Amino acid sequence: MKLSINQISKTYGNGVKALDHISLELRAGMFGLLGPNGAGKSSLMRTLATLQFPDYGSITFNDLDIFKSKIAYRKQLGYLPQEFGVYPRESASRLLNYFALLKGISSKKDRTIAVDRVLEQTNLTAVKKKNVSTYSGGMKQRFGIAQLLLNNPKMIIVDEPTAGLDPAERSRFLNVLRNISSENIVLFSTHLVEDVRELCQDMAVITQGKLISQIAPKKAIDGLKGKIWEVTMDTEELKSQFIHFIALSHRYDDSNELVSRIYADTKPSDSFRACEPNLEDYYFLSLKEKS
Ligand code: ADP
Repeated sequence: MKLSINQISKTYGNGVKALDHISLELRAGMFGLLGPNGAGKSSLMRTLATLQFPDYGSITFNDLDIFKSKIAYRKQLGYLPQEFGVYPRESASRLLNYFALLKGISSKKDRTIAVDRVLEQTNLTAVKKKNVSTYSGGMKQRFGIAQLLLNNPKMIIVDEPTAGLDPAERSRFLNVLRNISSENIVLFSTHLVEDVRELCQDMAVITQGKLISQIAPKKAIDGLKGKIWEVTMDTEELKSQFIHFIALSHRYDDSNELVSRIYADTKPSDSFRACEPNLEDYYFLSLKEKS
């Protein structure tokens, strides 16, 4: 299974260039699309969902041109937009049954089987009789996944699914995505590095409509080994003393002193401590190098 994005560009009517020659290749598994707000993530996802057209470039799914063969592609597509809308006061099983009917599953028996399957896949079986309007944010997001799974899509696109979820709901939701990604391409966007770490086999960082990199998270972290350092000193002192490194992030330690995390090929001085790199370091470094 393969989705190839080739040189996609999009400029909106107001002159904003949201996508600037983006090329990516996605295979079965979890793919994280990481970037700050306004980077172009939703624009790329709407394009992949064939809801808007690029000005330039092409996209193929298993050699099928997704715009020329829109209907065939959409049959294999599941898309959960950022705002899924208002949820009526109906139980999850009734609503899913209705969606299954809309998706063309005409036999009642087949619909029951499909509904039970997607409720299981999203861990909603125990609450299937409850009105979806009473669900928590995380349950609503899982319900959104349940409805898109009804027709067994191979290409699943989920836009910022963890926004606003508490940590427990977030991890439950990401586990659902992980379980459905073994045979499908699951592409999800986020501005949270933690969402991508551990969960994704592959990821891309985009900013200002441009692709910065496509890389496996593990490889991204391994590439920073021996190059991440921490130092306890204030930012002014840091800036004045050293020019041969890039400051990535700052935090306050237990004694309320400022600790800076920096990137440098070699240890800048004895006051610096070597650190294990993490995906956040890679992400911040990518954005700094681009700006
Ligand atoms: P992200 O999802 O990464 O936050 P978006 O794709 O939503 O980024 O937006 C990328 C840029 O395109 C932003 O500057 C945004 O304001 C602009 N944009 C998004 N949608 C539209 C639109 N329909 N019309 C005009 N500008 C838009």
